[in-house]
Amino acid sequence: MTLTRARILPTLFAILGSLLILSPSFANDGTIAFVGATIIDGTDAEPLADGVLVITDGRIRTVGPRDAVTIPAGADVVDVSGKYIMPGLINAHGHVGATVGLNGNGGYNTGNLLRQLGLYARYGITAVNSLGGDQEQGFDLRNEQYDTDLNRARIYVAGSVVVGNSEQAIRDEVNRNADRGANFIKVRIDDNLGATQKMPRPLFDALVDQAHIRRLPVAVHLFYLDDAKYMLNADADLIAHSIRDLPVDNELLDLVKAKDVCYIPTLTREVSTFVYESVPDFFSDPYFLKEVEPAILEELQTPERMSRMANSRSAQGYKAALQVAMANVGALDDAGVRIAMGTDTGPPARFQGYFEHMEMHMMVDAGMSPLDAIRASTGVAADCIGMGDIGTLEPGKWGDFSILGANPVADILNTKTIESVYIAGNRVPE
Ligand SMILES: [Zn+2]
Repeated sequence: MTLTRARILPTLFAILGSLLILSPSFANDGTIAFVGATIIDGTDAEPLADGVLVITDGRIRTVGPRDAVTIPAGADVVDVSGKYIMPGLINAHGHVGATVGLNGNGGYNTGNLLRQLGLYARYGITAVNSLGGDQEQGFDLRNEQYDTDLNRARIYVAGSVVVGNSEQAIRDEVNRNADRGANFIKVRIDDNLGATQKMPRPLFDALVDQAHIRRLPVAVHLFYLDDAKYMLNADADLIAHSIRDLPVDNELLDLVKAKDVCYIPTLTREVSTFVYESVPDFFSDPYFLKEVEPAILEELQTPERMSRMANSRSAQGYKAALQVAMANVGALDDAGVRIAMGTDTGPPARFQGYFEHMEMHMMVDAGMSPLDAIRASTGVAADCIGMGDIGTLEPGKWGDFSILGANPVADILNTKTIESVYIAGNRVPE
C-alpha cells in the first residue's frame, strides 16, 4: 500500500507540474517572476529600469532592480525585457450597474456586472469604485474578490445614492447602505444646470453626520464652487466631480488642502454629454473599436440622435463647463491637491475601460505630467478611496498590474499599448 502510494503520488505531481508549465501565466499557486521591464510602481518613486517583480499567491513578494532581487527557486520566469509594468488602474468614480448597450436599465444582475468588470479588466482598469446604484449582487461580488483566483476588476460599492425628504429618511438610508457593507456613502448636491432642486443643506449635514457615525466616507457629486466649499466645511470626504461653474479660488484651494480631501475630475463624463453631436475622433481608434458593439456605434451616429444632442441646452452647458473643469484640474494640481482618476463610466455611452485611458490623456492635457496622471490613477487613487492593498507595486499588495509595449511616462497615449493585464497574479483573459 505504502509502496503503491509512493509510486502514484510522484506521478500525480509530475502531471500537475506539467499542467502548470503549460499555462504558467494562469497559475498563481506558485511564484511568477517578471524580469527585465521598466517598473512604474505607482508611488512617488521614479520608474525603475531593468526591474524584477515577483508574485506569490496573488500578492507582490518582491520588487526591485535585477541585481538586488533573488528569484525564488522554482518560480516561473517571464522575460519582459523592453516592456513597461505599471499598477492596475483604479477608477475612483465609476458605476458597475444595469447598462446593456445604450439602455441604462438593461439588467442589474451578476452576469452583467461580471461582463462589465471583465471589460474594465481587459483595458487594465483593475478596480472600480462604484459610486451609486449598487445592489445585492454588487455587494456579493465585492465580498468575493479577496481571492487568489480573481481575474476580473475589483469593485467597491456605495449602495444607493442617498436621497430623502427629511433628516430621518436620510439617516435611515445611510444606515441601510452601511448595514449592507457599503464602502462609501454617495450623495448629490447639484441642480443639474438648474433643472432640479438641490438637497437642502440641513439634510446634507445630517447625511455627513450619519455616515461618519457609521465610519463611512462621503463622496459628493457637485458642480458649483460654492457647494464644494460647503461640503468641505461640512467635513465630507471626497469631491467626486469637477468644479465646473467658476475657476477655483484661493479659499477653495486652502480649504481642500486643509481638509486633505481628494478631487476626482471625471472630465470624460463631461465629454460624454455632448461629444455625440458629431462623430467623435475616438470612433476610429482601434483601441476603442476592439471592444465596442457595432450596434451602439450605429445608434450613436443616427442623425436624429446627433441633432438632439447638438440642440440640447444641457449638452451645450456641459460642453462649456468642461473648459472650466480642465482649467481647474491644472490649478488644483499646481496647488498640490491630491487628484484621483475617475470617469463616471458605466451609464450609456460612457465607455468603461476606454474612457479611463481618455481621462488620463485629458488630465495630461489639463497640465499634469504623465507620471502624475499615472500616480493619480494608481497609488493616489487607492489612497483616496482608502484601499491599502492595491494601487502600488509594493510587497504585500495584490498583484494587479499591466504590461505595456511602450513607455506611458514618455507619452501618456502609450497607456493604450497594454499587452496583458494581471489581477491577483492571474492573467486576465483576452
Ligand atoms: Zn457617478
